[in-house]
Amino acid sequence: MDYELNDIQKSIQQTFRNFVDNKVKPLAAEIDNNKKVPIELFKEIGDLGFFGMRYPESAGGSGLDIVSYSLAVIELARGSLSFAAVCAMQSLMATYFLYRFAEKKIIEDYFNAALKGEKIGAICMTEPDAGSDLNSIKTTAKFKDEQYVLSGLKSWVTSAPIADFFTVFSRTDNHDKLSIFFVPAHLKGVNVGKNIDKMGVCGLVTSEVSFDEVKLPAKYLLGGIGEGTNSLGEILSEIRIMTAALSIGVATAAFEDALEYAKTRVQFGKPIGKFQAIKMKAADMAVQLETAKQMLFYTAWLCDQDLPRQKEASIVKLYASECANTICDQASRIMASYGYASEYPMERYLRDARFTLIGGGTSEILKLQIAKELGL
Ligand SMILES: Cc1cc2nc3c(=O)[nH]c(=O)nc-3n(C[C@H](O)[C@H](O)[C@H](O)COP(=O)(O)OP(=O)(O)OC[C@H]3O[C@@H](n4cnc5c(N)ncnc54)[C@H](O)[C@@H]3O)c2cc1C
Repeated sequence: MDYELNDIQKSIQQTFRNFVDNKVKPLAAEIDNNKKVPIELFKEIGDLGFFGMRYPESAGGSGLDIVSYSLAVIELARGSLSFAAVCAMQSLMATYFLYRFAEKKIIEDYFNAALKGEKIGAICMTEPDAGSDLNSIKTTAKFKDEQYVLSGLKSWVTSAPIADFFTVFSRTDNHDKLSIFFVPAHLKGVNVGKNIDKMGVCGLVTSEVSFDEVKLPAKYLLGGIGEGTNSLGEILSEIRIMTAALSIGVATAAFEDALEYAKTRVQFGKPIGKFQAIKMKAADMAVQLETAKQMLFYTAWLCDQDLPRQKEASIVKLYASECANTICDQASRIMASYGYASEYPMERYLRDARFTLIGGGTSEILKLQIAKELGL
């Protein structure tokens, strides 16, 4: 294993760092306040190739490794966790099942446009009574007259109000396992409910979506009947690595701001960073951040080598998201009242970081997964 980023990885990191400093950071407060991501930003990041990083060149992507992808996600989340999470979900979850299973016309009309940031996709797994326990999904597709009729209610659907298409996890009337359907947003019976107001990642808009007897041609079934669970398993480690990268990104932003503040804020005649209590906090944060990063790159490397990484992916997601919340909390304490004021981004980091404890598996679910990998 090379213990240094290669030239391509360094260049990806630098490209996204520049993009975030110039284009994302200046808009981050507006994204949060207006509760939406400016549509031009999707196109700009599409032009940078973000949405296609994980797909091969033959599919219109750049076929980059997951270490490179993680570096890009960290940088985006350093700028705005809302924007980063929306883009990461589009790049990995909303488009993956199209890439794997969709027929040519869907690829031409939707997948290719999604890679350019010209169309937005959303993933619909969660339901009011099915969160961590996806086996409780009730949405059902019934096969009748050569087509599927989809009915059910999905909740917490990221990007629903701006989505051009949905990938929907559903039961079918003749199979226990979950199947996945491609559902264009304009179809009759697709209804997006009102936005769910939340404490953080406010620019990442989430809504309920109801599917009321939506008629779907048979070709909108992605993969075979019952393929949903298996194909979700194919990208589960990547989803967890991606969520760890989101966590590290927001933690890095909070750490950098707090460190700068500790060096410049003078109380009792010296910069507060000269007080031992602040030094201890900064050192603890640095240890956590560095440990999370090392674990992330190791797990991403395992993934790139196609080595077993289920346990490591759960560990890094759990550790990085818990650390992100501790780091944002400690960083906010260093900035005290300035960390509490809406004028500065620190309070947003603190609110946003809570999301990383939920998306990609809650800490409890990840611990159960790790225990299972340990044979318990
Ligand atoms: C901002 C945001 C965006 C989202 N975007 C999407 C999206 O685009 N698409 C989508 O499908 N979903 C989305 N989700 C939903 C998300 O995936 C779920 O919230 C997540 O899976 C957890 O489900 P839940 O909230 O229903 O919690 P629950 O599963 O009800 O869990 C509640 C609590 O019980 C614990 N718990 C549950 N089961 C066990 C167990 N067996 N043992 C121990 N403890 C347990 C959990 O850890 C948690 O603490 C989003 C959520 C948020 C907050």
